Amino acid sequence: MSARHATPPHPLSAVQTAIISCNRCARLRTYCREVGRVKKAAYRDEDYWARPVPGFGDPQARVLILGLAPAAHGANRTGRVFTGDGAGASGDFLMAALNRAGFANITTSQHVDDGLTLTDAYIAAAVRCAPPDNKPLPEEIDTCLDHLVAEVACLPRLQIVVALGKIAWDGWLKVWARQGVVIRPKPQFAHGAVAWAPPPVQSAELRVESLVGMYHPSRQNTNTGTVTPGMYDTVLRTLKDSLRS
Ligand code: SF4
Repeated sequence: MSARHATPPHPLSAVQTAIISCNRCARLRTYCREVGRVKKAAYRDEDYWARPVPGFGDPQARVLILGLAPAAHGANRTGRVFTGDGAGASGDFLMAALNRAGFANITTSQHVDDGLTLTDAYIAAAVRCAPPDNKPLPEEIDTCLDHLVAEVACLPRLQIVVALGKIAWDGWLKVWARQGVVIRPKPQFAHGAVAWAPPPVQSAELRVESLVGMYHPSRQNTNTGTVTPGMYDTVLRTLKDSLRS
């Protein structure tokens, strides 16, 4: 087939490709590559992804699930967001909840060839490179939000953003603020909290009408009972019922 007749890539694919090749945060790029070079003993025979991690899921999603950043030996190893951070860890906890809610076809997220598909949901992180101690710098978050805006612009049916944790919550409020949507008083993050963008809904980002908070499914939260499957089920059931066709 001649190049003239080749099918152009979906805009979302082009955005994902741009994310993967990003080098804007020298500190994070250096850290991710070093983690991939040294490796964890359990994964010493694997080739780490060690590059920025794009979002993953259904291009027709009405729900965007927004995490913090790739785990050093999870998504920074596998190359897929919330994937491979250990059996029973955050990726599995999240995917089991998404499966119960009808957004995911399987209950785990261990590697990129596991057959996981998402329906009506897209998962991304506020920061696409694994940060040391899971703590990105404010300027790194601000810089990386450009990628989130670009991805969201390619998800035409989005209605709801689910922020897994305060950094993701504040990150999405910044995305809104870039579009001139500043809600006062500032909505505070909490599990089950909801922030509504006032109409009119005009730009790609503003198609998202509401922001929903959920505690991050980190081991620290799930092992202590701060986050339970029932808590996730309640929020996901409510937001699913609120989606428009
Ligand atoms: S954190 Fe984001 S902006 Fe910074 S290098 Fe990684 S992909 Fe690029």
